[in-house]
Amino acid sequence: GNQQRVEVNILLLGAHNVGKSALTVRFLTRRFISEYGDIESVYSRVDRIDGQEICFNIWDSQYTQKSPSISDKQLHWADGMILVYNICDRSSFDVVQQQLQQIRRSRKPSSVPIIIVANKRDLQRHRSVSGEEGRLLALSQHCGFFEVSAAETYHGVLLVFHRLVDLVKETRAIR
Ligand code: GDP
Ligand code: MG
Repeated sequence: GNQQRVEVNILLLGAHNVGKSALTVRFLTRRFISEYGDIESVYSRVDRIDGQEICFNIWDSQYTQKSPSISDKQLHWADGMILVYNICDRSSFDVVQQQLQQIRRSRKPSSVPIIIVANKRDLQRHRSVSGEEGRLLALSQHCGFFEVSAAETYHGVLLVFHRLVDLVKETRAIR
């Protein structure tokens, strides 16, 4: 194509065990492998979307209760963020709210596109956070919102990453 390659740095945040690594691996390999190590790493994948080459750099972060805050390095690095919670774990929904507050305090409002992802949709019977609560939080914080299951489908996960790239491109266009 005649368009330049676009680099997009995506930071995955959220509590431990919500499926950050599962979402990352799904997106990178289309597969779900059920157990993931606790390795903090940045991965890359190049995609062609609407004739344009997009290089996704994905930082799969680790969350610990000892150091729950997002580092300055991460905040500075990210062009877009995905905040993940587990629909069966209310405390992980609280972590998303805390991390949103930290991001909003540290960066100019609306300067970084964020998508909130409610993961483990396949575990409906154990749900403790309603879809409505997630949607309302996203609406009030000007974030995107998706409910997905990293375990069950690739397509929903792909939509999240593609939507975030669109938001990053929009943000760059108005800067
Ligand atoms: P992380 O700590 O946020 O990186 O979470 P992981 O990606 O390591 O996932 C934690 C656990 O949840 C693993 O056992 C995964 O297999 C499981 N898991 C991740 N996503 C889903 C999902 O959508 N549905 C179900 N049922 N389990 C999931
Ligand atoms: Mg992980």
